[in-house]
Amino acid sequence: MLEVLETIEAMRAAAREWQRQGHRIALVPTMGSLHQGHLALVDQAHREADRVVVSIFVNPLQFGPNEDLVRYPRTFDQDRARLEEGAACALFYPSAQEMYPEGRSQTIVVVDHLSRILCGVARPGHFAGVTTVVAKLFNIIEPDVAVFGEKDWQQLTIVKHMVRDLNSPVRVVGVPTVRETSGLALSSRNKYLSLEQHEAAPALYRGLLRAQEHWRAGERDREVMRQVVTDSITAVGISCEYVAVVDPDTLSESPRTLSGPTLIALAAHLGKTRLIDNILLEETQD
Ligand code: AMP
Repeated sequence: MLEVLETIEAMRAAAREWQRQGHRIALVPTMGSLHQGHLALVDQAHREADRVVVSIFVNPLQFGPNEDLVRYPRTFDQDRARLEEGAACALFYPSAQEMYPEGRSQTIVVVDHLSRILCGVARPGHFAGVTTVVAKLFNIIEPDVAVFGEKDWQQLTIVKHMVRDLNSPVRVVGVPTVRETSGLALSSRNKYLSLEQHEAAPALYRGLLRAQEHWRAGERDREVMRQVVTDSITAVGISCEYVAVVDPDTLSESPRTLSGPTLIALAAHLGKTRLIDNILLEETQD
């Protein structure tokens, strides 16, 4: 049975009661418009804990003034129906008024440096909005585990740092990106794409796979790798915001000659729609 909880008080009471009964709680924070990627997080959460809470909250704090807060897809009835079929036992669905009774939050949680690079360049304030709402959710629910998607690698890294820096007793777990058969990473924002854009969008992952082929063939030049990805994307007329070749833990730019695990992360624009993707390259032992 999926319980829908709309107030902080009710959510906190339910979570406290589960804790009292000795249950472990896993939290899956989302903005709704749920797809198989979100459901993979719910499955992982269920492997980590016996009580799974999914939150659906389109967090105004993480949208810039010219971003898509108003048109962000909201499909609550469908989301609830999807969750009823899965392992979640509670859906936390607060209003903006419930989460920010004063309109804005005076207290902002910022993971300083990591929030200003990569996606943070084009989206100032975005990650501060994310970490602030995630910190609030952690305080409301007090989960043992929180599950995030690797599709948003920078977000996952930032949340891991926040937990470490603030000594939060929450274990942060990442889940691999779920993709369409075309390779396109599932995203609520894919709904914005026209048919034509949807056909072009798999070029993002194709570019990352091409880089992976080069990596496996022994290529270790950062700029060659970056160019391989950029060329694949721009070849189909997609405009690249950035392609970065970085250390997967620190997100700092890799040295010119790559060694050890390497993340290639990108953001691109198809019309007004901004999509992100990434791939982790690791040394294989053969
Ligand atoms: P969102 O609702 O877009 O804020 O995403 C909520 C959570 O789902 C985040 O932790 C995302 O990283 C994760 N997520 C979104 N898309 C995918 C995907 N295609 N595969 C795996 N996780 C995803």
